Amino acid sequence: MRIVSGIQPTGSLHLGNYLGAIRNWVAMQDSLAEGEEAFFFIADLHAITVPQPPGELAGATREIAAALLAAGTNPARATLFNQARVPQHAELAWILGCTARVGWLNRMTQFKEKSGKDREGASVGLYTYPVLQAADVLVYRATHVPVGEDQKQHLELARDIAAKFNTDFGAAVFPLPQPMIPPAAPRVRSLRDGAAKMSKSDPSDMSRINLTDDADLIRLKIRKARTDALPIPATVDGLEGRPEARNLLEIHAALLGEPLDAVLGRFAGQGFGTFKPALAELLVETLAPIAARLHDLLAHPQELDRILDEGAARARAAAEETMRLVRGAVGFLL
Ligand code: ATP
Ligand code: MG
Repeated sequence: MRIVSGIQPTGSLHLGNYLGAIRNWVAMQDSLAEGEEAFFFIADLHAITVPQPPGELAGATREIAAALLAAGTNPARATLFNQARVPQHAELAWILGCTARVGWLNRMTQFKEKSGKDREGASVGLYTYPVLQAADVLVYRATHVPVGEDQKQHLELARDIAAKFNTDFGAAVFPLPQPMIPPAAPRVRSLRDGAAKMSKSDPSDMSRINLTDDADLIRLKIRKARTDALPIPATVDGLEGRPEARNLLEIHAALLGEPLDAVLGRFAGQGFGTFKPALAELLVETLAPIAARLHDLLAHPQELDRILDEGAARARAAAEETMRLVRGAVGFLL
């Protein structure tokens, strides 16, 4: 078993990233058996598919690395690195770009969403993004990839590319990576708008809880979070048409690792005036130790850089083993 997963350095990490992704990475890493491996990377090559200020990219990358470590990623158990320092990702992406078909990419819904109305003006990288994603996974010959609902189509594409490469070159270079749907990963919504997901790229900082927020800011954001005037219902049905209320209750349930019903049972009949302070304290309790470790790591950049140097070296060694097979299969003169 080899797990690979990545996250973009496009802003600071938030509660949605933590509950939806990072917490599961840590759980997967902790449950690896002898001989199983995990590769977690910061997807800086993916980030530049849309413009990133050059003066901020390295800092954003470091900050994400620190947040991942603070949240429990253990460099002794998982390889943590940034993608740009492992050139094999880009090399394999080129080769796989010659395996993938234009028709396959044209079916990818994320490009349509992200390029919006200005498709002709989008970068070529944004269009071929799923090919780089396939390379990210296949360059480690990953067997398992944790994916949210939004990334399932891209993993399916990675499997198609792997299968076609193996067939075209008559070589079983790539195993077909399996999706790992993380258990109980909630889709955390914006604190300002229950129709939108909590996101790094939301212009309003009040829409999200960042892993770097201190206790007072967390309390303020929860106090200001949009809700409604109705009391908390006793059953999930009672949350129908109340996405903001549901979001806060789901966050509470996810933090405790409990079903939503259990939380409703405890707060049924009460208003958000009572529930919000309880939620805020639970958030502070969960996030304060992470924020403290994060600040500590950012205050010691040499230690952070050492971890990332080592991770990149380990990742390059693993990726190079695959690339030898790939270059041989394609038939390059080397
Ligand atoms: P961006 O706005 O730049 O797309 P993002 O906040 O969506 O940023 P990503 O880097 O795209 O974050 O996603 C990193 C991981 O976090 C992915 O596994 C993604 O599914 C997960 N994730 C992102 N937002 C949420 C959310 N609101 N709830 C649960 N999981 C989330
Ligand atoms: Mg996203």
